[in-house]
Amino acid sequence: MSTTNANNQSANNGILKIAIQKSGRLHDDSMKLLKECGIDVSNGVNKLKSEASNFPLEVFFLRDDDIPQYVEDAVADIGIVGENVVYEKKKKVDVVEKLGFGKCRLSIAVQKGDVYNDVSFLEGKRIATSYPVIVKDFLNEKGINAEIHEISGSVEIAPGIGLAQAICDLVSSGSTLFMNGLTEVETILQSQAILIKNTQLSAEQQAILNKLLFRIQAVKKAKNNKYVLLNAPNDQLEQIISLLPGMKSPTVLPLAEKGWSSVHSVISESTFWDIIEKLKAAGAQGILVVPIEKMIV
Ligand code: ATP
Ligand code: ZN
Repeated sequence: MSTTNANNQSANNGILKIAIQKSGRLHDDSMKLLKECGIDVSNGVNKLKSEASNFPLEVFFLRDDDIPQYVEDAVADIGIVGENVVYEKKKKVDVVEKLGFGKCRLSIAVQKGDVYNDVSFLEGKRIATSYPVIVKDFLNEKGINAEIHEISGSVEIAPGIGLAQAICDLVSSGSTLFMNGLTEVETILQSQAILIKNTQLSAEQQAILNKLLFRIQAVKKAKNNKYVLLNAPNDQLEQIISLLPGMKSPTVLPLAEKGWSSVHSVISESTFWDIIEKLKAAGAQGILVVPIEKMIV
């Protein structure tokens, strides 16, 4: 291959470029996810990019707002960004996977003391937001005419200084709204970090992405499940086993003490407490719960 090919995109096909937030709420969890996938990336201060030492991945550190555009333009092949940013920017990218972190909601809030019965409250009002596209879609869908006042930060102070009668902003605990005398009245969008990709990856790039996705899914599944070990009296075994889903079926091993068995299984986080209570009631003892690092099914 001649060196004149250096700028040719196909020359970079053997490596996948991922864009993640440079600093901010998604940065640490994005780096942690790559680490949990066994990918070593050094995160030098003020670095624009970094190459993984043990996986064909190059990491670009960018402002979150710019990530959808970079992925659409194939400057980066994939990216990690909040759903809120993806929907606001309306870029042509494919959503690959929800990542389970960076959870928040995009909500409308009004001043405490305002009588808000339904969205008709917003008719003719002025709404301050950094998400004009999403808010406009929402208002159109509800048939409400309101003025959208776009501001890039500190949206929550707008009603207090008389700039708007309502705001639409990201909320997680709600404490920022509370401190500014605001009440959340409508949730427009539930958001979390997602993996997006360029719509025209080469077969080779897609193959690297599939490898990465396989690891991400194993990490996600492990987080959503716990490994449970318990002791069961043999005469209760049947009932205890019926309570346990397991990956196939629970493992049962005899204990040194006669009449007892050790039972091992995997329980999902969402049903965990419910099942543990039933196991105890059915006579299980010495219940140990262990986190799972990776889970491949
Ligand atoms: P950047 O400098 O990259 O532009 P930013 O200030 O726009 O950063 P952050 O505040 O770091 O963005 O938030 C990044 C993303 O984190 C948001 O777009 C959203 O998806 C998610 N997020 C999770 N919880 C919250 C929250 N309580 N407030 C704001 N964003 C949140
Ligand atoms: Zn941003």
